[in-house]
Amino acid sequence: MITAQAVSPGLITDRQYIGGQWLESAGGVMQSIDPATEEVWAQVPDGTAADVDLAVAAARDALNGPWKRMTATDRGDRIRRLGDLLDEHAARLGELETRDNGKVWSETTNEVRRAAKWLRYYAGAADKIEGSVVPFKTDAHAFTRYEPVGVVAAITPWNSPISLYSWKLGPALAAGNTVVLKPAETTSVSAFAFAQLVREAGIPDGVVNIVSGRGSVVGSALSGHPGVDKVTFTGSYPTAQAIMRAAASGLKRVSFECGGKSPHIIFDDADLERAAIVATHSAFRSTGQSCSLGSRLLVQETIYEDFLAEIVSRASRIRVGMPLEAGTHIGPHSSAEQLEKTLDYIRIGKEDGGTVVAGGGPVAAFDRGFFVQPTVFTGLDNESRLAREEVFGPVLTVLPFRTEEEALQLANDTTYGLVAGLWTRDVGRAHRLSAELQAGLVSVNTFRPTHWTLPYGGYKQSGLGRENGQAVLREYLEVKSVVVDYSSTPPEDPFAH
Ligand code: ADP
Repeated sequence: MITAQAVSPGLITDRQYIGGQWLESAGGVMQSIDPATEEVWAQVPDGTAADVDLAVAAARDALNGPWKRMTATDRGDRIRRLGDLLDEHAARLGELETRDNGKVWSETTNEVRRAAKWLRYYAGAADKIEGSVVPFKTDAHAFTRYEPVGVVAAITPWNSPISLYSWKLGPALAAGNTVVLKPAETTSVSAFAFAQLVREAGIPDGVVNIVSGRGSVVGSALSGHPGVDKVTFTGSYPTAQAIMRAAASGLKRVSFECGGKSPHIIFDDADLERAAIVATHSAFRSTGQSCSLGSRLLVQETIYEDFLAEIVSRASRIRVGMPLEAGTHIGPHSSAEQLEKTLDYIRIGKEDGGTVVAGGGPVAAFDRGFFVQPTVFTGLDNESRLAREEVFGPVLTVLPFRTEEEALQLANDTTYGLVAGLWTRDVGRAHRLSAELQAGLVSVNTFRPTHWTLPYGGYKQSGLGRENGQAVLREYLEVKSVVVDYSSTPPEDPFAH
């Protein structure tokens, strides 16, 4: 059994967390590979559709049972306790995440601490979900009440596991739903440690269930399951489409966050020193494995050469190394497949006529592990694949522009719309572009400030619905209108004549 307290390589579990029990899965186990060493370090259940049936039934029982009977304030207290437990176990959980997905330990630990803040924010929201009295007519009391959507399937990717469990579970639970969580194949270990803490927090059995396994088996069974009322998903656009098709039966509610190719625009009147620090970080942090990177850097022609030189110099100083070691800036890719994908994109960038001005391949110092150099491309236009497709690796494409109009046109010329950023000291321009940029989060003189208080989500193919802030609560609630007529005179009888 995996615990947050006793973490060491060689972890094995063949049990899912369902209805508060550790249940054996008939599907056997999947191996989890440490991307820094390429060694198998843990095993998790390779779940089946039968596991999904059990988990959904447990979630349904809890929805209509203990979770429903609990006051909203009590629900909030348990969610807050879960947040506190994440904080207490942040170092250990961070280590699990680092071993599973290769992000540096300081970053994963920080992510766990931030996840705790997400949970506390929604803990506070639980007893503030209020309906309203509607001035419908005299002699009647009309009001709205908010009710949970029901059983929620939460399907998460491998890049920020615990963050995303909390982004989804916080509001889902605060709104009174129950959840079946399916973590990503390659990074499921922390989900089982998370389950232990769910238990310890006093969240009743069945309110949160964990079923690991493959997307094509567990994810697909959840998305089409008649007992699931809503699917919340973070991952790729094709998978979101598959989920939407499966969820069509029964008209399940869906919300998606599917990534981006976010424009980061640098005007020549900006504070260029700050802009260079943030532009470099936003392109290469987390080994480029984030949906909200500033991976398309648009730089005004007047400062293009100098700003590019600064970015190249900063990219070349990023320390790629063992993710558990202090001093490492970015770790390896999360899997061999992800490394191959990034190397493939570097090859495509060159074939399309691009010039590599920093990085450009694996890190020579390592003979094992999925390490790649932070890479900068120039000489590509906005039609090139590197400017249009999400690499999910540390590969930055830099493009020049002349005018504000051209910057806006290039920025919006993408199928994505998750995040956009711009740097300028011109207040008018900041507001004009904030209004015109087609993205769910626009940042001026900073980049992608994700926070529990700020709604987050995509325009266009970047997603459907929102996470975070108060906005996400709507995604987990049904609104019911109730009319109580208290008139004492008989109604006019339409059938009297
Ligand atoms: P990524 O490219 O980030 O790995 P995916 O969309 O493939 O993104 O995976 C994100 C999550 O979706 C994972 O938990 C994965 O197992 C799950 N998944 C993959 N295919 C399906 C599917 N057909 N139905 C539901 N979930 C799926």
